Amino acid sequence: MKRLTAADCLWPRVKKVLEEERHTHEAEGTLFAVFADSLEGTFCGLASERDIAAHPHWIFADLVEHRPLFHISPKTSISTCLGLIKKSQLEGLPVVDEAGRFVGAVTQSSLLRGLLKQERELLRQTRYYFRLVEDERRKLERWSTRLTELHEASRALLTVLAHTSLEKDLLQIAIEALAKLLEARYGAIGLLDKEGGLADFVTVGISAEEAVLIGDKPSGSGLLGVVIREDTAIRLEDMAAHPQSAGFPPHHPLMKSLLAVPISHATHVYGRIYLCDKWNGEAFTAEDELLAMSFANSLSLVLDNAREMEEILKVQTSLDHLAHHDALTGLPNRLLASDRLTLALAHAQRQGGRVAVLFIDLDNFKQTNDSFGHSVGDRLLKIVAGRLSGCTRAGDSLARLSGDEFLLMLPDVSDIQDAATVAQKILATLAPSCHIENYEIFMSASIGISLFPDDAVNVEDLLRFADTAMFHVKQGGRNSYQFFTETMNERIRQYTRIENALRHAIGRDELELHYQPQVEVESGRIIGMEALLRWHNPELGPISPAEFIPIAEDAGLIGDIGEWVLLTACSQGKRWADMGFDGLRLAVNVSAFQFRKKDFAVAVRQILAASGIPPGMLELEITESAMMDKIDEVIAALDELYTLDIGISIDDFGTGYSSLSRLKKLPISVLKIDRSFVNDVTINTDDAAIAIAIITLGHSLRLRVIAEGVETQDQLAFLVRHGCDEIQGYLFSKPVPVDEFTALLHEGRQLH
Ligand code: C2E
Ligand code: MG
Ligand code: MG
Repeated sequence: MKRLTAADCLWPRVKKVLEEERHTHEAEGTLFAVFADSLEGTFCGLASERDIAAHPHWIFADLVEHRPLFHISPKTSISTCLGLIKKSQLEGLPVVDEAGRFVGAVTQSSLLRGLLKQERELLRQTRYYFRLVEDERRKLERWSTRLTELHEASRALLTVLAHTSLEKDLLQIAIEALAKLLEARYGAIGLLDKEGGLADFVTVGISAEEAVLIGDKPSGSGLLGVVIREDTAIRLEDMAAHPQSAGFPPHHPLMKSLLAVPISHATHVYGRIYLCDKWNGEAFTAEDELLAMSFANSLSLVLDNAREMEEILKVQTSLDHLAHHDALTGLPNRLLASDRLTLALAHAQRQGGRVAVLFIDLDNFKQTNDSFGHSVGDRLLKIVAGRLSGCTRAGDSLARLSGDEFLLMLPDVSDIQDAATVAQKILATLAPSCHIENYEIFMSASIGISLFPDDAVNVEDLLRFADTAMFHVKQGGRNSYQFFTETMNERIRQYTRIENALRHAIGRDELELHYQPQVEVESGRIIGMEALLRWHNPELGPISPAEFIPIAEDAGLIGDIGEWVLLTACSQGKRWADMGFDGLRLAVNVSAFQFRKKDFAVAVRQILAASGIPPGMLELEITESAMMDKIDEVIAALDELYTLDIGISIDDFGTGYSSLSRLKKLPISVLKIDRSFVNDVTINTDDAAIAIAIITLGHSLRLRVIAEGVETQDQLAFLVRHGCDEIQGYLFSKPVPVDEFTALLHEGRQLH
């Protein structure tokens, strides 16, 4: 504020007079400014009423003459003026400008009045500013509340967006926050289900009862339908005025302005958000639309995520199922079975209960699979799984371990007999034949049973022992069940001993070939020999090839052993040929494993070359079951061998399931009737019929037919009668070492 000076506080009652005048009566407090010559002339001084009262008859010239002409400038400060008045004891001070012109006069009261006025002014201004400040404060307070609200709302929205799935209460938070943010009276989020119906509908500003009543409407045909169908935002000042408006559904509160945005991502529309009527009655702005759009976009990303998560979860669940179940039968697999078994054991341990493990292996499944094809095999497994499931009770756990192996766990058997009963039930349920693709297939199983805690207390041992017991059933003729016993374990140990000893058999020169003569029925002469493997292990003693060959196959040792056999036999064949016994046929057994190896023909060719055996002398014996597995690969392998001028004989013929059509395709030269038929050929009419059928079949395919295991004259007579070409068996000679065989050749022994 400006500083007050004398010029601001001039006394209003000043009368200009000439010096020669005498006073007239004037208002109280009047001061007289005395001039010489004229009223605009030279200023001579001030006279007050007090001066006049002291000399009522004096003219003004005399009244001012007594005092020196004392004056102040208009810029003199008020405090100086007051000081001067006090000091001079004058009633008024004249104010004269720089040019010496009279401006006015100040008195104590004019000065005080000036001061008062200024103070009032100051007070007024202070009040004014105070009001301004108060207004600002209130405004700020309002803003701060609003900002807090906005902050809370946007935080709520962000929280919603941070989720990977959207529950209904999250959507509720979202719409409330958005409505607050955009100051809308009403708001709703509607999400669509797969069929386009309303899956979720959350509202704000609409009562729950109203929401239920209108819930299935808003996505319909009107403006909101447009938002979804056209995937576009709508912002209207008065929605009723819009041509596409379908009006409000019944029970819907009346609303005027509208902001509706789709919740969409890429081309997928998840639903829409709508807000109505701003609290301040204004229309929604472009910024409001931007904000709602941006929230809807983010929301669609969350929904996208949620959808993806759902897919991932689905895939995970199915992967989990796959990892724990067998795809063909849908039964739990080995992994899940052993998990369940572990749990059952822990439970039984705590409760002092008993668990039975049934290892179920189908009999001859491989042959069935080979003969009828894999699709039939698969269907058979499904039927078996179904029948086995029928034998279980709640709590039992059935699993498919692999191929034709199943496992049934009975978690609580009070009596061992219960396990036996279940095993019997399984055998009975499998007994009826299965009809698949016009085939009638009979299926049986071998079941081994082990018990917790009687036999073992851990999963691995229980499984192993049940497997051992099952193996025992197989050995004993199949289609039965057995409980595990220690003796069985001994057999398994023997198996392991053989396997270990076999690894060193070639290196330690423990293998030897014996030869059994093959005799032509017509001439009675030896026309060839079958090489049969013999193994002398110092610790284990003599072990039959029927026992150790399968172990060698399991242990992956058959390749080396087979090669040793072939090379040894071929070298011997060459020696006999060199000795002049030419035209003989040397039959060598080849295991299925050996035969199916890719470079088998190559190995044979090398051995032929290395041994120098006369071409055409070698004949490979391959069992019928080995030959019928993967027939295309077999034909290819045999064709390759055929080009080497090697004879092929089907060993153990009659035990497999060769079909005539398949046999016709194979480049074979000999059918070898299995010993089991020959054995009973004179006493069992079925076996006799089979032997006759094989001879007839062989001849119709222009193959030679040889009978193995001929022990008696009656058997021989039968075979001769039915036209069998050759025989092999104890009747003529057992398999013998090389020297003995050479002696036989020299001797020229004859059949008759
Ligand atoms: P296989 O090839 O069918 O051989 C015939 C088996 O019948 C031989 O048993 C032979 O000694 C026996 N046998 C011969 N005549 C008679 C008889 O009149 N009565 C009786 N009861 N048996 C007779 P072996 O030598 O014990 O061989 C058993 C099986 O082991 C063979 O059956 C063959 O499958 C396999 N095998 C033998 N040597 C080899 C070999 O070097 N390699 C391969 N992969 N397998 C072999
Ligand atoms: Mg043989
Ligand atoms: Mg045989």
